[in-house]
Amino acid sequence: MLTMADATSLLLTGGRVIDPASGFDGVADVLLTNGKIAAVGKDVPADAARTTSRIDVKGLIVSPGLIDLHVHLREPGQSAKETMATGTAAAARGGFTSVVCMPNTSPAIDNAGTVALIRERAAREGVVNVFVTGAISKGIAGEELAPIGSLKQAGVVAITDDGHCVQNNDLMRRALEYAKMFDLPVMDHCQDYSMVTDGVMHEGYWSTALGLRGWPATGEEMIVARNILLAELTGTRVHCQHLSSAGSVALLREAKKRGVPISGEACPHHFVLTDATIAGSAKFWAEDGRKLFEYEPKDRPVWPNYDTNFKMNPPLRSAKDREAILEGLADGTIEILASDHAPHCDYEKEVEFDYAPFGITGLETELALCLMQLHHTKRLSLPDLIRKFTVAPAELLRLEKGTLRVGADADVTVIDPDAVWTFTREESASKSSNSPFYGWPLKGRAVLTIVGGKIVSDERATRERAKPLAARAA
Ligand SMILES: [Zn+2]
Repeated sequence: MLTMADATSLLLTGGRVIDPASGFDGVADVLLTNGKIAAVGKDVPADAARTTSRIDVKGLIVSPGLIDLHVHLREPGQSAKETMATGTAAAARGGFTSVVCMPNTSPAIDNAGTVALIRERAAREGVVNVFVTGAISKGIAGEELAPIGSLKQAGVVAITDDGHCVQNNDLMRRALEYAKMFDLPVMDHCQDYSMVTDGVMHEGYWSTALGLRGWPATGEEMIVARNILLAELTGTRVHCQHLSSAGSVALLREAKKRGVPISGEACPHHFVLTDATIAGSAKFWAEDGRKLFEYEPKDRPVWPNYDTNFKMNPPLRSAKDREAILEGLADGTIEILASDHAPHCDYEKEVEFDYAPFGITGLETELALCLMQLHHTKRLSLPDLIRKFTVAPAELLRLEKGTLRVGADADVTVIDPDAVWTFTREESASKSSNSPFYGWPLKGRAVLTIVGGKIVSDERATRERAKPLAARAA
């Protein structure tokens, strides 16, 4: 449900304000005026009573607007999957006030003209802030560097060949050296093609049992190790996208101890699901899903085996890998949470597992799954969780976002961490419906998403504090 408030001033009263950038955590009012944070504190006076609308957010969390730094908006060229309007509407519904879009569009975002086109379209049709990444290599082909200087001038916030991975180590080294000159972080989808070849799921027990070609964890770890070495050699910050394996977490943890400028992100599907899901829901709930979220048997979602909505790249891995990702998030090795929102049309996904494209949508379920698997399980405090969605991505990409400091942009997300709801195809704002999480009982959601002082998503009416899941929480 999208509503646009046109008041010039908005006062959020009585919420628990958590701003990890400044270390603030306490009950306070937040006044938003003319698109900026005007005041944060106790009993903030409404400055212009007539134009200020008040919203009572008692019992809710007031967070800096959430940032998702890994989103595929599919424009230009793939608007059958998603558009600027639908992708940013899904972001708003998920609580995200800023998204960072990936350059593997058609054509790829590898030149200043395409960057300008997307920024112009985002300003016109987007309901949240859209930041653009440029490609590392021309056409994301991994052979020749893209014009990194002119991409930077056109306004990209990072470079990445996401969806693909530069295989030539010398080309990657030169990309890092150029990126350093232009003060741009480099993000990388870590996949060694010679190891992975045409693998479609995690190489392990289930790939053998199901007769599907394996995508070994080593195929990711090789490139994580390569990136650590090159980050150390060049001094350029490298960010490893969507980490999925225990080995990657161990490599990152060790490198960070030595002060290597390396970082990583994790996506909810990799720390909620495992490769057993591809054997069907009965197998998953009987084994790797047994203790997940303490669902009652009647609450447990059902899906068939070989369901292509469990096919993504990197793939869902073993329970041991899932646990290592959770540990990496808890101890700070992995600083950033992201969705890798990757919409695809039904006709593309409704084929045999081998032939379906990799990827799932994620913007609308991401916050709930993170709250369930990190906050409700007590692995992370709320401020530490919110940090991974706000100040951490803002610092990596040097965005003037991710804080509630007075004078900052009035991007705010109001969260009910205990709201119980079910994600459905019908209510989704995304143009695509390739999510594995339809029908899942979820706990926690964004109630209000505010961009530049304007409400772009309002779920207050549908908010429901149902008891069953809440009562079972540890
Ligand atoms: Zn990727």
